Amino acid sequence: MGKIYVVGIGPGEEASLTERAKKAIEDSDMIVGYKAYIDIVRAYYPDKEYLESAMKQEIDRCDRCIDLAKDNKSVALICSGDAGIYGMASPLLETAQKRGFNDIEIIPGITAASSGAALLGAPINHDFCVISLSDLLTPWELIEKRLRCAAKGDFCIVLYNPASHKRKDHLKRACEIMLTEISPDTVCGYVKNIGREGTETAVCTLSELADKQVDMFTTVFIGNSKTRIVNQKMVTPRGYENK
Ligand code: SAH
Repeated sequence: MGKIYVVGIGPGEEASLTERAKKAIEDSDMIVGYKAYIDIVRAYYPDKEYLESAMKQEIDRCDRCIDLAKDNKSVALICSGDAGIYGMASPLLETAQKRGFNDIEIIPGITAASSGAALLGAPINHDFCVISLSDLLTPWELIEKRLRCAAKGDFCIVLYNPASHKRKDHLKRACEIMLTEISPDTVCGYVKNIGREGTETAVCTLSELADKQVDMFTTVFIGNSKTRIVNQKMVTPRGYENK
C-alpha cells in the first residue's frame, strides 16, 4: 500500500515551504488538493501528477487519497498554512480510521497566524486565541461565545475566515461582540494574500476594523490591552521593559 502525507504548504511562497514538505511532495506519486493550492504547488513542481478537488468536497478528497494509497500510490494531500489548523489532517484521520487505513504522516507548515504576524510586527507575542468566523461547520452562537470569552480574557485574537462571498458581515458582527468587552481603541491589524501576489497589511483600531472590507484571503489580528504601535509595527509586549 502507498502512504498518505498531509502537507501544510505554508502561506504560498516557495521559500516558506519546509524541507519536509518538499520531500513529501517529491516522494509522492500524486498531489491532491483544492485547486488554489494545487496551482501554487504546480508552479514549483510542474512535472508532478495532480488531482484537483472542489471546495466543500473534503470527505470525497480524503476518500480519493485512500483509494490511491490502497492502489499502491503515495499521495500528498496539500493544505495551505498548517495541515492541522483548519486543515485536512483531522478529516483524513477520521476517514482513514473508518476505512482501516493508517499509514499517514502529517507534515506541519507555517500557519497564517505566524506568517501574517511577522508581516505586521509582533502582534501575538503573548497569550493568544485563534478563532475562525466560518459558520459552515460551527454554529454562529458558539463562535460568538468564543469571541466573547477570548476578549474577556484579554487574549490577543487571530481571526481566520473573516469573510467569504456569502458571509460579508461576519467581521463587523465579531467586532461588535468584542467591543462589548474591550476598548474601541484596541490596536488591530490585518494582512491580505500573505506570501502571494498582492500582499497588503494594515493597522487600525477595533472600532475602525468593524467597517473594513476583508476577503477570504485575509487574516485579522486583534491586540490585547497592552498592544501598541512601535515604529509603525503592531507590537504586543512580552513585558520586559516594565521589569
Ligand atoms: N490551514 C490554514 C488555514 C485555512 S483556513 C493555515 O494554517 O494557515 C483559511 C483561512 O486562513 C483564510 O480565510 C485566511 O483567514 C487564512 N489564510 C490562509 N492562507 C492565507 C494567506 N496566504 N494570506 C492571508 N490569510 C490566509
